[in-house]
Amino acid sequence: MSLLSQLPSVDSLLLRSKDLVRSYGHQEVSKTFRNLISGVREEVIEKKMNSLPTIESFISLASKTLKENQTSSLKKVINLTGTVLHTNLGRAELPQCAIDAIAMVAANYTNLEFNIETGKRGDRDKHIESLIIDITGAEAATLVNNNAAAVLLTLNTLARGKQVPVSRGELVEIGGSFRIPEVMQRSGCELIEVGATNRTHEKDYTNAITDQTALLMKVHTSNYEIKGFTSGVSDSQLAAIAHKHQIPFITDLGSGTLIDLQQWGLPFEPTVQATLQSGADIVTFSGDKLLGGPQCGIIVGKKELINLIKNNPMKRALRVNKMTIAALFEVLKLYLDPDSLKEKLPTLRYLTRSKDEIKALASTLLKEVSLSLDYIAKVEILPCESQIGSGSLPTDLLPSYALAITPNVNSDHVLTNLAKQFRTLPQALIGRISDGKIIFDLRTLESKDTFLKQIRLMSK
Ligand SMILES: *Cc1c(COP(=O)(O)O)cnc(C)c1O
Repeated sequence: MSLLSQLPSVDSLLLRSKDLVRSYGHQEVSKTFRNLISGVREEVIEKKMNSLPTIESFISLASKTLKENQTSSLKKVINLTGTVLHTNLGRAELPQCAIDAIAMVAANYTNLEFNIETGKRGDRDKHIESLIIDITGAEAATLVNNNAAAVLLTLNTLARGKQVPVSRGELVEIGGSFRIPEVMQRSGCELIEVGATNRTHEKDYTNAITDQTALLMKVHTSNYEIKGFTSGVSDSQLAAIAHKHQIPFITDLGSGTLIDLQQWGLPFEPTVQATLQSGADIVTFSGDKLLGGPQCGIIVGKKELINLIKNNPMKRALRVNKMTIAALFEVLKLYLDPDSLKEKLPTLRYLTRSKDEIKALASTLLKEVSLSLDYIAKVEILPCESQIGSGSLPTDLLPSYALAITPNVNSDHVLTNLAKQFRTLPQALIGRISDGKIIFDLRTLESKDTFLKQIRLMSK
């Protein structure tokens, strides 16, 4: 009898898989068996297989496939890279109050766009606008999906079909996909490059202004610094030039911070408030960079301009969902009490953690980590430098401490394999490789126990 005629039927497998059907439903289990059977049939036809898998192995394969397919690939990871705002690791961790707020609005109907007093349609920005105004001192504010969207929407509203002069020193690329020249093109305006890479002067702007100029724009060069023989035009000078020509001055602050970070010994970063005070008519910034909130783009500035932006039909495509509004509200509320901000906002807590505190944490972990990894690697405490990340303040590093893991066998292959083993733990431990070692920077490690639990899984 040929092998093909001995292949089990889907129905016969289903009869023996009541548990799978209960967990995953009849439809998915049948589909999985059908795929497995047809895979085996092909292998038999191509003569790659000369005996059939048992019924039990069909069932266990199906169980494995179903489990894999129905486990989200989005997982919790433990960030030990030393980069606090790591874009690839999802940027800011939210404070508990924001997480609770997300859960509440996610589970319920809300008055997202409903005015409870009048019983009529409301505006989703209303839930957050007055708090943003209160903190930043702006006349008005609106919210979109991220800062890239904020820049796109602002330019599309205020400069479509017209020209926008930007300094050649500010044509930034953020994380590979956001480039100022390309965003400007997509927003329908024409970029007029002014000045040189290292130096731009007031007259470069004044010479570039024509009756086709929509506005002046400044882009905060978040992820690089031009050093040496340099010169730029300040916000207040640019504002003065723009206003003399009766056009708006807008600033893409990138990260943007709502509080002077120097009070905690962190590097200077321009605040949204100061940028507005220097005369910017519109400022755009991210919700999930230094602000430490959910992913969103915040647009603040003159009421008249914000109204135009809100009324752009593209706003509908870029708007935020109720969970973002709920989370941002809670995060912004923390800024009303700057004295407790450092404790309550994870991003700021990590950024301000002292190297001594991190070193003490390393000491409490060293013995157990060494013992667990003794058979494959040597573990030591090493000083290192953390980064703020997300394109903010790239040249300013924060002194920190790490557990450095050196494999007992000196080989690149062994090192990269070990790093992969750490990454494929149930809760991925993500560090960086440097100088033949895996570096686990402990700056952003909140829970010692979660970390040790993963390390124990590595022991022999
Ligand atoms: C990060 C950044 C952006 C993009 O912000 P997202 O919130 O990531 O979309 C735009 N402009 C500047 C200057 C930035 O630093």
